[in-house]
Amino acid sequence: MATDEQVQRVLEVYYDGLSCTECGASVRIGEYECAHCAMDFEVLLREWAGRLVDGLGGEEGGVRENM
Ligand SMILES: [Zn+2]
Repeated sequence: MATDEQVQRVLEVYYDGLSCTECGASVRIGEYECAHCAMDFEVLLREWAGRLVDGLGGEEGGVRENM
């Protein structure tokens, strides 16, 4: 089960969003390439997903104490 803190962390990362590293356009989650410059977002999305997982605590996260 997700804790409130985990849910909050996901929402923070989600609303933080992404920007295209090529042209700076904002990126909607779920898009696979930039609408402006057609840059492939695979790497960006993978980093973003990694931040989500980090935010959930994983093996060394800060939320573990609350469980
Ligand atoms: Zn772009």
